Amino acid sequence: MAVVGPLSRIARIGSTFCRNNSVVSSRSSQRRGIVSCIDPSHGLTDEQKEFQKVAFDFAANEMAPHMADWDQKEIFPVETMRKAAQLGFGGIYVQPDVGGSGLSRLDTSIIFEALSTGCVSTTAYISIHNMCAWMIDTFGNNEQREKFCPDLCSMEKFASYCLTEPGSGSDAASLLTSAQKKGDHYILNGSKAFISGGGDTDVYVVMCRTGVKGPKGISCLVVEKGTPGLSFGKKEKKVGWNSQPTRAVIFEDCEVPVTNRLGEEGQGFNIAMKGLNGGRINIASCSLGAAHASLLLARDHLLVRKQFGEALANNQYLQFKLAEMATKLVASRLLVREAAKALQTNHPDAVSLCSMAKLFVTDECFNICNQALQMHGGYGYLKDYAVQQFVRDIRVHQILEGTNEVMRMIISRNLLMES
Ligand SMILES: Cc1cc2nc3c(=O)[nH]c(=O)nc-3n(C[C@H](O)[C@H](O)[C@H](O)COP(=O)(O)OP(=O)(O)OC[C@H]3O[C@@H](n4cnc5c(N)ncnc54)[C@H](O)[C@@H]3O)c2cc1C
Repeated sequence: MAVVGPLSRIARIGSTFCRNNSVVSSRSSQRRGIVSCIDPSHGLTDEQKEFQKVAFDFAANEMAPHMADWDQKEIFPVETMRKAAQLGFGGIYVQPDVGGSGLSRLDTSIIFEALSTGCVSTTAYISIHNMCAWMIDTFGNNEQREKFCPDLCSMEKFASYCLTEPGSGSDAASLLTSAQKKGDHYILNGSKAFISGGGDTDVYVVMCRTGVKGPKGISCLVVEKGTPGLSFGKKEKKVGWNSQPTRAVIFEDCEVPVTNRLGEEGQGFNIAMKGLNGGRINIASCSLGAAHASLLLARDHLLVRKQFGEALANNQYLQFKLAEMATKLVASRLLVREAAKALQTNHPDAVSLCSMAKLFVTDECFNICNQALQMHGGYGYLKDYAVQQFVRDIRVHQILEGTNEVMRMIISRNLLMES
């Protein structure tokens, strides 16, 4: 589909960014100072600005022109993601000896924020893929790292994270998928629900029960597509995140070699949660990109749309709303980056900070996108206008990788434990 009307503005946001290494797009914008105060390159090193520029450029040229089409036709853009992998985005925080880029959590957040301005749904899948690659890199032995990571980093192969089950969502430690050891194989039985990429991906990082009830009885196995006994449910119809499939993943006497177990038996829940700490920063970063793009779309609309004989931008109520959106965006970005730094340095509060970032940022950025849609009036509700897709795509960030209610549970539990 050709890029027309408001969608092309998203492409411009990115290319403008790339040319100037700043979201300041024109002299008049500079004078207004509206855009520069939300500049996502603020405070970054020269090197970080460089790869941020590359990510914005990729979002503008390779993703934004297609984001509506991928959404409407439910296309999983495999070749585009492989191009992203050529830039190092397939294993951003995976170690270089197995094909990763070896960047930090903060660097990763900067990249996912920029990519999301071009397509939230595709970037969010790339972030889940990165999380799986990191789990194998970090908890796998050398043989496992060498077997799986290079193909994941190049996105020759794609990965899925399999924790949720039909009967265990927020209470993930109650999962029932069983893995019984028989000689040098585990026999898996059970099913996983809502698996991003499910059916279209090649490598499944599966949390399953090898022992007692609760978190200590859970192990983590890597299951490869094509393993007998592995099958998939129907593709789910979703509100957003349509450029990536979501399916149930089903195991029926599925034989998985013991050599595919990450870590020891019983370490699976810990591995799953460690993956999610970074996953929460990543998904919050995807919300930041959506909010950033939506805010610029709203600003542009207010400047050109006239009602009551003048531009909407002259209305003080809307000016105040815009200011609040900008303030919440910048506050959100600061929190994400603080959490990313804490995770990178293994700060004792990293888990709480990652949860806070996920809770605050996915809520606030959803509100920003929703307000941006409101500022577009009826046009915001039309699929010709990108803002509705940002709203639909980031709604689910409040639900997955631990719901925002679960984030509250983690934060308050850690606070109460301190006393
Ligand atoms: C599009 C999509 C993609 C997904 N991708 C993946 C994936 O790739 N891999 C994966 O493993 N999972 C995935 N999920 C699953 C997701 O992580 C779960 O949906 C989520 O963890 C919530 O679980 P649930 O849906 O079972 O809701 P439930 O746990 O049933 O919760 C329902 C509601 O009750 C609230 N609630 C539950 N318990 C409490 C409590 N004690 N206190 C207060 N409130 C509570 C919840 O916050 C929620 O609002 C995906 C989901 C979606 C929609």
